[in-house]
Amino acid sequence: MKRLDHFHALHAGLHHAAHEFPAQWDIYRCAHEIKVWHLDPNRDGGPFDDIGYHFLIKGSRFIPCRSLVYRGAHIKGFNDRSVGFCVCGDFSKRSPTSAEVSAVVSAIFEAERTIGHKLTPVGHNQFNNTFCPGPDLVRLVNDRIHQVRTHSGV
Ligand SMILES: [Zn+2]
Repeated sequence: MKRLDHFHALHAGLHHAAHEFPAQWDIYRCAHEIKVWHLDPNRDGGPFDDIGYHFLIKGSRFIPCRSLVYRGAHIKGFNDRSVGFCVCGDFSKRSPTSAEVSAVVSAIFEAERTIGHKLTPVGHNQFNNTFCPGPDLVRLVNDRIHQVRTHSGV
């Protein structure tokens, strides 16, 4: 896998899974399922080397997935300039919850600590012809980041 040049990774690429996993599945099982999709040899566009996202969010939790050492596979043409975050859920059918938005922000802050600088949230659909991550996620995440930075001074 190609390495991610942290100096040029200035964006947080936001995604939804376009899928609602069973409520009783924990986040690791969801991550495994997405990894199986991404490694499928019959996948449209060919299989990835690993799960495409750097972080997965489910409900109020997030976990690291692909190492930040490596470039992700989540926004065609923009993977060298972004870190990938995916929320378990289908935002064509519902809006992101407050817990999900908070967890995305926490994951972005975690990535920022590793990368060494701030990340600007962008939506997958700003770069590729896709609905992902729906109409609300980027705005909600930006609003929450602004709130947090204003109140904590980070
Ligand atoms: Zn996406």
